[in-house]
Amino acid sequence: MTALYAVFGNPVAHSRSPAIHAAFAAATGENLCYEARLAPLDGFAAALAEFVAAGGRGANVTVPFKEEAFRLCQRLSERAARAGAVNTLTFADGEIAGDNTDGAGLARDIGENLAVPLAGRRILLLGAGGAARGVIAPLLAERPASLYIANRSADKARQLAAAFADLAAGSIEGGSFGELAGKSFDLVINATSASLTGETLPLPAGLFAEKALAYDMMYGKGETPFLQLAREQGAARRADGLGMLVEQAAEAFFIWRGQRPATAPVLAQLRAELRQLAA
Ligand code: NDP
Repeated sequence: MTALYAVFGNPVAHSRSPAIHAAFAAATGENLCYEARLAPLDGFAAALAEFVAAGGRGANVTVPFKEEAFRLCQRLSERAARAGAVNTLTFADGEIAGDNTDGAGLARDIGENLAVPLAGRRILLLGAGGAARGVIAPLLAERPASLYIANRSADKARQLAAAFADLAAGSIEGGSFGELAGKSFDLVINATSASLTGETLPLPAGLFAEKALAYDMMYGKGETPFLQLAREQGAARRADGLGMLVEQAAEAFFIWRGQRPATAPVLAQLRAELRQLAA
């Protein structure tokens, strides 16, 4: 019997997740159907309940429902509990189990696809929203020399740094964008949603150390405002979040189906499609 999965979001029509999971299913021979489902902003729980009643086996959750999904779970993985946000739900035995695969997806994209080791590096994480929360523990697990979290609302960054201090082998601090003046980093990750609205972050010059990687969780058909700024400020390497998207999907597929699909062909296909759109 075909197993039913979906991604819930608002908006959700732009989601690449159905195409990614269809490609994973074809490659692994798994019999599943994966749809995009638009949930009303005040009707996520009801939409989810309807999906479970119709036989849904699992779901991904995207903006803006990740924290509400967290609250609906009867069981949580350790990484989801830490993140306070859930992007992968599994429905079994009358229970909702929640996990968060965003951090694993980011770590795999940076560590394996881009071959940038994180151990001993100085990392700057921009943003303190759901995506930032989800990646802090997996980043710290790689034992960087330091992690600085900077956010427009600086207090949120300071609170996050304090909340994850017990996991840090090196230093962990939070602050404002202005407090970054005079500091430099080997890896700068943009986990703000500023790129979504085409805004450029007010970052001081000199943030990118020699050979630094600038990574924007956002992706699209052209260069994002953050990656443009990184190029202008001399970042040696720059990457968008398409690889993270495919890797977090592969991690969810593994949770649901027990099989780890190859990600490289799917990433290459999506990249080619984006290039075509940009041409
Ligand atoms: P949230 O709404 O939870 O958080 C938004 C963050 O961005 C906050 O830190 C907010 O700061 C900051 N922000 C928003 N606008 C601005 C601005 N104009 N200037 C400075 N800071 C700003 O969003 P998420 O954390 O869920 O998502 C963040 C981004 O990550 C999105 O672009 C999303 O698409 C992307 N993402 C990509 C994934 C992938 O697989 N590639 C997976 C998950 C997310 P403040 O606290 O001050 O409001």
